[in-house]
Amino acid sequence: MPTFPTLDAHDAFLATFDTGARIPGADTSTFERFAVVDPATGGGIAQVADTPISLAAHCMQTATRGFDNWSKHTPRGRSNVLARAAHMLLERIDTFAATMTREMGKPLEEARAEVRFSADYFRWYSEEAVRSHGGYREAPGGGARLIVTRQPVGVALLITPWNFPLAMGARKSAAALAAGCSVILKPAEATPLTSLLLGDVLVDAGVPPEAFQVVTTSDSAGWSRALMSDQQLKKVSFTGSTRVGSMLIEQSAQHIQKLSLELGGDAPFLVFDDADLERAVESAVISKIRNGGQACVAANRFLVQEGIAEEFTAELAKRLNALTVGSGFAEGVDLGPLISERAHGQVNDLVTGALELGAANACAFTQPDGPGFFMHPALLTNVPETASISSAEIFAPIAVVGTFRTPAEAVARANDTPFGLAGYVFSQDIDQAFGVAHALNVGVLGINKGLVADASSPFGGIGYSGYGKEGGVEGMQDFQTVKQFNLDMPSAAFLG
Ligand code: NAD
Repeated sequence: MPTFPTLDAHDAFLATFDTGARIPGADTSTFERFAVVDPATGGGIAQVADTPISLAAHCMQTATRGFDNWSKHTPRGRSNVLARAAHMLLERIDTFAATMTREMGKPLEEARAEVRFSADYFRWYSEEAVRSHGGYREAPGGGARLIVTRQPVGVALLITPWNFPLAMGARKSAAALAAGCSVILKPAEATPLTSLLLGDVLVDAGVPPEAFQVVTTSDSAGWSRALMSDQQLKKVSFTGSTRVGSMLIEQSAQHIQKLSLELGGDAPFLVFDDADLERAVESAVISKIRNGGQACVAANRFLVQEGIAEEFTAELAKRLNALTVGSGFAEGVDLGPLISERAHGQVNDLVTGALELGAANACAFTQPDGPGFFMHPALLTNVPETASISSAEIFAPIAVVGTFRTPAEAVARANDTPFGLAGYVFSQDIDQAFGVAHALNVGVLGINKGLVADASSPFGGIGYSGYGKEGGVEGMQDFQTVKQFNLDMPSAAFLG
């Protein structure tokens, strides 16, 4: 496997890479194509198959055959395949990392970290595949024994966003395959290449091609409508915007499909006077800057207690100003470009709108000339509530810092949002940290820590951030149904 220290090497790889969808029995060479754009240059890097919707029925029949096959593999058999997949992802880490940096823009080191994070989900679910516990119960009234067992739900459609091109597909796929489901993966149109690579790894590791298809398309709405209007589809796992998630809830009504929705975030990051300042600032940088701020769990609102606010803001601004912005392929780069020109324009409008309304900026926020959709960080204070940025999911390296006086005020303001994905609390007083963490209406909490996801534990939000979990035992249960056997057991009198 080649490694990719340079863009030229990656171009050479792409020149021979199969950019057709992965649908057994389909001749992808006849499909129309759509361009994948490198956000660091704004130029096209590959032409990917635009799979026609007329293939949806074929795709579904294929997945149904795939389910018949894969669900009959023993738990140990599925476990072995997933363990191999974890290993192979790491063997191909440079290919994955370079491809993600190319189509999404994140620095190579972060892309490598995403591959390791994704491999962790395959490893965890390879271990979990053989531990799908049920139960055996005595009916309280006597006369029966109740057996509870879990079964794979069936064909699953996985719809993923562009911001973590590998991790979002990996953690859904690992759980779905461990449960015994077959998968149709539909990646975001901005980042389809990484999902094609993932499909290849899984088939090479031993997943039957019918049980793992990858549909690349520029018409996501059309494809999801077509697949969801087929009653053979039993499950949809979606990560993306609340707007689209809400539409999928309506679409799932026709055939009562099971849903998991990982939607938008509005994470509060609370820093109390007694916080370890260095730890809080370091975590703030991680939470805000990782993935260029384009993460659903990114700190969206910094709320800092008055006694520490000035110092925290000054330190954070210093750290943000020291970051290097540039191509993810360049040495020493901390921040790649935003995903698109449109996203760049929207964020620029949010920042300039807040400045016009009287906000102050403690960072340079000078924007480099194109090409590419690069953006320097900003740190805004005194942001009025009327500014659009106060209620937006920012999705960029822009920190908005406000202050609070009391823990009660901090919790009330943190909870003043319909979203509820991640939250962060920084305090060295365990009672305060834990008490506030309990009071926040979110699904995942960082306590004195800026990273929250782990393969072994359930990740997911509440409210407008969706429902369902990824990771942990709960993540696999989202791809299973629970069945109960009621066994008549009148008495044991015949034993004498
Ligand atoms: P998006 O909703 O536009 O797209 C997400 C996916 O849905 C893509 O694959 C896209 O092609 C597809 N899609 C778009 N329109 C569709 C439609 N009408 N029907 C079916 N599918 C459709 O979101 P995005 O801009 O790609 O991602 C950013 C959003 O995702 C942010 O709001 C972010 O918070 C959220 N996100 C959430 C998590 C999480 O775990 N909660 C993780 C990453 C991103």
